[in-house]
Amino acid sequence: MPIRTAEQYLASLRDDREVHIGGDRVKDVTKDARFAGAAETMADLLQMQHEPSLQDVLTYSSPSSGDLVGMSHIQPSSPEDVKSRGDAMQVWMDTTCGMLGRSPDYKNVMVAAWAAAAASFKRDTFDGSDNIKNFYERVRENDLMMTHVLVNPQVDRSRPAHLQESEIVAQIVKETDEGMIVRGARMVATLCALANEIVVMPAALTWQTDEQHKTTNYAFGFAIPTNTPGLKFICRPPVAHLDAASPMDGPLSLRYDESDGIAVFDDVMVPWERVFLFRDKEAEAVIRGKTGAGPHALHQSVVRAVSKSQFMMALALAIAKSTKIDEHNHVQVMLAETISIAEFTRTCRVAAEAEAHETPFGTFAPAMRHISVWQSMFWKLYNRQCEIINTLGAGGLVGVPSFAELAGEAKGDVEKYFQSVNADSSKRIKLNRLAYDAALSSFAGRQRLYEQYYSGDPMRSMSQMYRSYSKDTHIDRIHDMLDDLEGRQNQGWPHNGGPAFTPGRF
Ligand SMILES: Cc1cc2nc3c(=O)[nH]c(=O)nc-3n(C[C@H](O)[C@H](O)[C@H](O)COP(=O)(O)OP(=O)(O)OC[C@H]3O[C@@H](n4cnc5c(N)ncnc54)[C@H](O)[C@@H]3O)c2cc1C
Repeated sequence: MPIRTAEQYLASLRDDREVHIGGDRVKDVTKDARFAGAAETMADLLQMQHEPSLQDVLTYSSPSSGDLVGMSHIQPSSPEDVKSRGDAMQVWMDTTCGMLGRSPDYKNVMVAAWAAAAASFKRDTFDGSDNIKNFYERVRENDLMMTHVLVNPQVDRSRPAHLQESEIVAQIVKETDEGMIVRGARMVATLCALANEIVVMPAALTWQTDEQHKTTNYAFGFAIPTNTPGLKFICRPPVAHLDAASPMDGPLSLRYDESDGIAVFDDVMVPWERVFLFRDKEAEAVIRGKTGAGPHALHQSVVRAVSKSQFMMALALAIAKSTKIDEHNHVQVMLAETISIAEFTRTCRVAAEAEAHETPFGTFAPAMRHISVWQSMFWKLYNRQCEIINTLGAGGLVGVPSFAELAGEAKGDVEKYFQSVNADSSKRIKLNRLAYDAALSSFAGRQRLYEQYYSGDPMRSMSQMYRSYSKDTHIDRIHDMLDDLEGRQNQGWPHNGGPAFTPGRF
């Protein structure tokens, strides 16, 4: 089956998956209000692939079947492919204001990169190279949606799992001819309720310890369907106000609450053909460095962030215009700041694509240098964009009623008292409810936390960036400059001239 329709996707979710929320086991995630909004949004994204005006951008011909498949599955063979993939992802991101962390492209690019680097999965402990290639073909040719869990539950973070004994952390408890049996939990599975497959891989973490592994029970990688017997998802409560009087009160949260959950493996059988890594002490290193998937995964993230930061910028501009506060200098400074955040993000994407380079696997990847810079800064910049909207919207964010009031008994008062110099009441209530949803609501809080943590702990990734950055030449330049000045000083500088400046020095 090539690209799926909305209907085919929604039907695929009615498969007796085990999803728990608010003490209930959900019968049908497509009908349950806590998931239905995001399910419809995801379905719409797939349906867009059938739209004739978008098909050239969103799809390409499968190298194996010739069918149309989603562009985010492409294994780029040129810098142009990298750019085309970015353009396709941008269409989905612009449509959803960048608010969906787990639109299908997020995992698609990662799995495509792993499959391109399949040789990295040929390990002494297990040969997962064909399995990862087959899995990639399966998700590409069937347009499957994926969630993933990379992190062990928060039990004891003082030491890595392989130096602990825990009944909580997902682990191999048995091996049979058919596969391995996994028991325990992993976090956080965003989109778990709405995905077709769950990918369970090691986090790309580095532990600063020389202690040897006490166990390899936790060292594995695999993927299985989300309705596999024994697999259950326990989800957080929704961040959308499902009892809102009008859908216009939660224009983002009612459509984009993609859900998060913990995956519990209750003696789940994972067939050997679905295993990618097995009892591998270097499993984390394989994912971190050997597959080169990082720049591909973060390519999707930076494209998403361009749409998201542009949306937040546009919202701040509209709020400021609605009451003409944009005439004040310090407001203009804040607006310039949010514009700069959007432009910085766009520049990082453009630079990363412009400097796309060939990888050891024969594919092309965007330049990690620009993506790392973006990654290290964006979560803080995004917080700032929320803060700017809150600062400019001020009391108006909590001082406007539900959009439903425009049809209520107080309609006349509402039409009169909620207008502003540049917007009638209807326009201003819609705008301020959107701003509330984007920057102040529980949906907004979850978005901020998402940006901070979805690709791991920024403290540790930034420390890793510092450690891997090539620093010596920069430090040498400082010392060369000082030695140079000292030499000039010995020859009478600054008052009696001295040798000419050396080009390229500070
Ligand atoms: C909304 C959201 C959605 C997410 N979705 C997914 C998903 O779909 N799939 C997925 O796999 N992951 C997902 N994640 C990311 C992931 O689950 C973690 O949040 C992330 O890797 C950070 O780990 P943690 O939350 O366990 O924090 P912890 O590791 O417990 O860290 C908490 C704090 O303690 C500090 N700390 C802990 N251990 C150390 C250490 N060894 N050294 C230094 N400092 C330390 C950290 O700096 C941090 O400040 C999501 C996260 C969020 C917030």
